Amino acid sequence: MNLSINCDDLPSSFKNIIVKNCSITIVRSNLNDMHDIGKWVAEFSTKTNTRWNVRTTVPNGKYIQCKKNYICHHSSHHKVDRTLNKKGQSKNTDCKASIKIVVKVDTVSTRKSDPFVKNNYLGMITISNTHNHNINTAEALRYLNPDIHLRKTFEEYFYDGMTISDALRYHESILTMSNTPIEDFANGRINPTYRCVQNWHDQWRVLNLGPRTGQGVIMVIKYLCLIIYIKNLFYIYIIIIDVFCD
Ligand SMILES: [Zn+2]
Repeated sequence: MNLSINCDDLPSSFKNIIVKNCSITIVRSNLNDMHDIGKWVAEFSTKTNTRWNVRTTVPNGKYIQCKKNYICHHSSHHKVDRTLNKKGQSKNTDCKASIKIVVKVDTVSTRKSDPFVKNNYLGMITISNTHNHNINTAEALRYLNPDIHLRKTFEEYFYDGMTISDALRYHESILTMSNTPIEDFANGRINPTYRCVQNWHDQWRVLNLGPRTGQGVIMVIKYLCLIIYIKNLFYIYIIIIDVFCD
């Protein structure tokens, strides 16, 4: 499916001009560096319910400041073939959608060859937004990355003593009470999956309560042994004092 792109789909943190819009969309934007590229794609992902993985990065070059290429997260890159995937539902649909972003250098030469450079639209974004999978179905939305604020919300639930299941149930009740549209319940950016929350909980637990296995546990055991040892030494000392003082 080819998703046509309009101005509302483009990140509002930047100034954008759509130069071409057919099977491939070309956008010029006031990007300046690699950080801007990442921010642009993150905002574009949120607005279009898409998700992109970095394919290649070129930090600098003679005629460009930097370049980054993204592919749809349903591409076949670094994924096993769909038919060979035994772990569950495969994300690999061999989707060819891509985003290529170049930030040009501002020189006399580039100003002559590219009128956008003169107006500080150094970023050139080429979007091939033809996906071979659905974008707005519950299944597709499930794979979207929740944002950092949602993670913080769940960490607050953990601090309040909720388990993973409690936190998920409580979060859904909040969504229900705030009249969240039913389709948003399937959106991973609004209502994260159990697996995602489990991952947050595991990391939160290590940071706040210590690990359940490994070196951290060994340290705790050694510490407890030391306390017992000192306590025993103290009892022996009391007994010796008792015996000799009597
Ligand atoms: Zn795709």
